[in-house]
Amino acid sequence: MSDLLARDLIRDVPDFPKPGILFKDITPVLEHPAAFQQVCDLIAADAKANGAEAIVGIESRGFIFGVPVALELGVPFVMARKLGKLPYDRITEEYALEYGTNTVEMHVDALKPGQKAYIVDDLLATGGTAAAAVRLVERLGGVVCGFGFMIELGFLGGRENLLGYPIHALLEF
Ligand code: AMP
Repeated sequence: MSDLLARDLIRDVPDFPKPGILFKDITPVLEHPAAFQQVCDLIAADAKANGAEAIVGIESRGFIFGVPVALELGVPFVMARKLGKLPYDRITEEYALEYGTNTVEMHVDALKPGQKAYIVDDLLATGGTAAAAVRLVERLGGVVCGFGFMIELGFLGGRENLLGYPIHALLEF
């Protein structure tokens, strides 16, 4: 999208959090209300087009974009949280990150069987995080109806980990 306000706001931070990683800092987008709103509107439109009945946000930047999308659509917001953060009974999935490994969890009653879940995060890198979120949703009987990302790092091939699912990314690097 050529008139995406967020395009010129994303800041490259070299060697964060580890040497060799070029970190895409999205905080300037959040500080620009029109750009932030536009990103949320575009993700919400795609979630709606894919029939989302719930939005799953991946901690923590997936919460920032996922919550306004869920409110815009009037559907439940479900948290996929890092290990040890959720208080109630939960299921767990481990995954490899571009820079390390991590674990993501979801409450056992977060989705109903057959419920269409649209997964939101700020950035698609290797796709390991998003694939773990798919496993959580499907273990609960939910149906992944699509993904919304602000940024896709195409050179890392994350889409290969998410074959068969509709993926919408607003910006590709
Ligand atoms: P992945 O599982 O490799 O697709 O990594 C995606 C998750 O890691 C997202 O939640 C991103 O916020 C974060 N992430 C991975 N690589 C980067 C990067 N280069 N810049 C900013 N965030 C990143």
